Amino acid sequence: MKIETLSLTNFRNYSSLKVGFDDGINVITGKNAQGKTNLLEAVSYLTSAKSFRGASDKELIEFGKTETRLEAEIFSDGRSQKLDLEFGLIRRKKIMVNEVRQKSAAGLSGKLTAVLFSPEDLSIIQSSPLFRRRLLDNCLCQIRPRYAECLTEYRRLYDSKTKILRDGDKRMLPLLEEYNERMCENGSIILHYRAHLVKILSEIAGEIHKDFSGETEKLTLSYQTVKTVENPLKKPLEILPILRKHMDAHRDAELASARCLSGIHKDDVLISINDRDSRKFASQGQARTAAISLKLAEREIIKRDSGEYPILLLDDVLSELDGGRQDYILNRIGNGQVMITCCEDKSIAEKAGGRVLLVHQGSIQSEENSYVY
Ligand code: ATP
Ligand code: MG
Repeated sequence: MKIETLSLTNFRNYSSLKVGFDDGINVITGKNAQGKTNLLEAVSYLTSAKSFRGASDKELIEFGKTETRLEAEIFSDGRSQKLDLEFGLIRRKKIMVNEVRQKSAAGLSGKLTAVLFSPEDLSIIQSSPLFRRRLLDNCLCQIRPRYAECLTEYRRLYDSKTKILRDGDKRMLPLLEEYNERMCENGSIILHYRAHLVKILSEIAGEIHKDFSGETEKLTLSYQTVKTVENPLKKPLEILPILRKHMDAHRDAELASARCLSGIHKDDVLISINDRDSRKFASQGQARTAAISLKLAEREIIKRDSGEYPILLLDDVLSELDGGRQDYILNRIGNGQVMITCCEDKSIAEKAGGRVLLVHQGSIQSEENSYVY
């Protein structure tokens, strides 16, 4: 899997760009605030039609402009393919895959896959559950279109239910029954996929972490959900009545607090190092090593599932790591396309090898200039 050319029109600080990438390592360098992360954001946006920075679509449109367009020629599933995404301040998103319009972002699932690793992810172990859920969601949305659909629907239902609870409008309260049922239906499917991913992640990240720590540490993961679900690996239809019972039991408390208290939106992943909860006991170094193991495992899972390595996007992360950890990542990358951003750091560019792309004020110069059109 690789991205061959990327064209951007009015995307962030790129008014007009057409750039080609090397099949292997691409080092994207330049001073601060030139557009390095914006470029990775564009690549990542093509995988899911969502910004990895959590930005809204409107924020992605260049200041003062009303519409943006991202086009890419990719090589995926053994053939050349085309992705074309357009949206505006008032215009709906148009997603085209090989000239065919897609009904939703789920149509992008599996076309272009990417694993992004940024300094923020280094604290995935010690930060809030949101980051650990995001790790699972990013991986599953790219390889399972059904998961992407259920997650979008769950979020929509969650927002609507929250609004009803907050407004407290008595005429709307009877609708809660329907929302609860559909949240539990979608929630049981989401839970099923996540729990299975965590099981595989625990095996693969465990192997990587063992190797990385010189065989001294054991990394294990388990999925934590609603307490009454004793075995989250069960089929969705078996989980559904348990979620429903839990939600019904919290009806009064939800009305009183005007918040959604029951559901899979509060789930977490318990990450243990040598059988101890890493949130409480891991040192900074152990937590960083575990975070790297998880990201490399995510890449491996997508490769095993689709047969192709996802693009690895390393945003400023190498400069945050010591030499040993940098070497470990670079040595494990092996095949596949990689984009590494760094701030004019010659040592990283030299260590990583590959093509160097210099970003300056929303335009790109390649060292040999042959990759910029
Ligand atoms: P750093 O090394 O500090 O991480 P960077 O090269 O990664 O810098 P980016 O995050 O890509 O920088 O941002 C580059 C510039 O893009 C910033 O100055 C930012 O203000 C600008 N920018 C962000 N959004 C938009 C937008 N919608 N329109 C125009 N410019 C934008
Ligand atoms: Mg940046």
